[in-house]
Amino acid sequence: MLGAMMNYPLTLAQILDHANRIHGDKHVHTLLPNGKMDTYNYAMLYRRVKQLANAITELGIRPGDRVATFASNTYQHLEIYCAVPYAGAIIHPLNVRLAPTQLAKIVEEADDKFIFVDGTCAAQFSQLQYKIDCRRVVLFNANHVHDKNLTDLSIDYENIIAEAEDNYISDIPDENWAMALCYTSGTGGEPKGVLYTHRSMFLHTLAVNQADVFGLTESDVVMPLVPMFHAMGWGLPYAAMFVGADIVLADTNNERIVDLIAEIGVTVAAGVPTVWTKLLPEFRKRKQDISSLQRLIVGGEPIPSSLIEAYEKELGVEVRHAWGMTEMSPTGTFCTLRKAHQNLPDDEKWKIKAMQGRPIPGVQMRLVNENGTELPWDGNAIGEVQVKSPWTVSSYYKNEPTPEHFTVDRWLRTGDLATINSEGYMQIVGRAKALIRSGGESISTVALENVLLKYPHVKDAAVIGIPNEKWGERPIAVVVLSSKTNENISEILKCHLASEFPKFWIPDRFIIVDEIPKTGVGKTDKQAIIELITASQKGELL
Ligand code: AMP
Repeated sequence: MLGAMMNYPLTLAQILDHANRIHGDKHVHTLLPNGKMDTYNYAMLYRRVKQLANAITELGIRPGDRVATFASNTYQHLEIYCAVPYAGAIIHPLNVRLAPTQLAKIVEEADDKFIFVDGTCAAQFSQLQYKIDCRRVVLFNANHVHDKNLTDLSIDYENIIAEAEDNYISDIPDENWAMALCYTSGTGGEPKGVLYTHRSMFLHTLAVNQADVFGLTESDVVMPLVPMFHAMGWGLPYAAMFVGADIVLADTNNERIVDLIAEIGVTVAAGVPTVWTKLLPEFRKRKQDISSLQRLIVGGEPIPSSLIEAYEKELGVEVRHAWGMTEMSPTGTFCTLRKAHQNLPDDEKWKIKAMQGRPIPGVQMRLVNENGTELPWDGNAIGEVQVKSPWTVSSYYKNEPTPEHFTVDRWLRTGDLATINSEGYMQIVGRAKALIRSGGESISTVALENVLLKYPHVKDAAVIGIPNEKWGERPIAVVVLSSKTNENISEILKCHLASEFPKFWIPDRFIIVDEIPKTGVGKTDKQAIIELITASQKGELL
């Protein structure tokens, strides 16, 4: 027998309408590149979102159309984040750090109807600009743009808002309607799209707002130092709006961040470990009063227990380690201590906190070995993490589910290798997938190897990630040449890769060898390569 409850659609419109009605006086602050602040309240955000929804409809954007953004964290980006799904279209935040060729491929596959470009990102956009029709660009922060072609041809963001009425009524046909598209670095080198639904994002928002997850409340001042293009800013913008927390939008490289945390009284901030490693000496040096800062949400790559200790012991800021992926909207696990841990010595606590944590309510998880056998949660058995949840992808955009990514019984294969202990705490120990994590972003070893192999003198190549204190991991290339050369081959190969990949993808070192070590089944022997690299660092090679 079916129950008799309202079939209440779980859509982003409910989040926005609630944020406006209940929390209209709460603030959105944007730290501008010149260090000044721009502030308005949720009521104004809502009004502009409604105007923008009308404006994009006027531009010809229809429900289901993809609308890209190429932007940093600003209030305009937040408005587009809200208005596009509010009007039934699909917001597609582009990663501004990718190379123009990668971006062009993504824009083509996504078939984006318009791109909303932030003038403060004009430098990164300049190369992509020549691959797309500028009449499809809507430009904001245009005063930062010096390219007349772009300013002349593009549509002015503020103009279209000013000309629009603020009476848009959202009418999303179905809670399973697509609302956002994010690309992730594919293991095979090809980026893959994840198409979120209103329902999945609504449920993810509720899930992360639980006390043992983000734990946001109306009293919080939230600063996501996560780009909004990285896995939907980890869900923080929508989560903050739903509970009515103040939001502070800023670029991680802005020098005023530490001052701002003190001045505005930020209570919760989120970012990858690289950000917190970089900011730690700043916190120490400037000695600002950051007593408002209660908690950091840290994820994207493992956080070392020493960094947790520095923040918790020295600065009195709680660290919550999270694990997830674009495919999971992105939250999968969160690390908070159990009641049973409260009396443990501090260093025991930090050790637990350095684990990736337990599945958040709504996420199912299992560990599976190479033969497909489920492994025990004993803290020792290592297997691939497989997951299910209402906010996990069921197939990639424009792709059928393949056995590489989904099991027969429809679990997502994360490609992460981990142990899970009897209390349910997961610890990532490696990656089955060919991805390197640098500064919280993925680098595809396969894509780098493929392009290296296209260079005429390269006979064989392997790229692997090695641990790096600042970035987590960095790529190193091991290359076999078809003939000896006197040229500076490292520089040549760097230039060769630079035309296809962003700067942070370029391997730090190129080691020339006679042969790439292979395993018994002919696969690249990564362990032997690590030994090669260690030998070369000690000067035992070459
Ligand atoms: P992305 O989709 O770019 O967010 O990348 C997701 C991948 O990042 C995961 O599959 C993991 O390999 C890695 N990752 C995310 N968070 C963590 C973490 N806390 N510790 C270790 N690896 C992580």
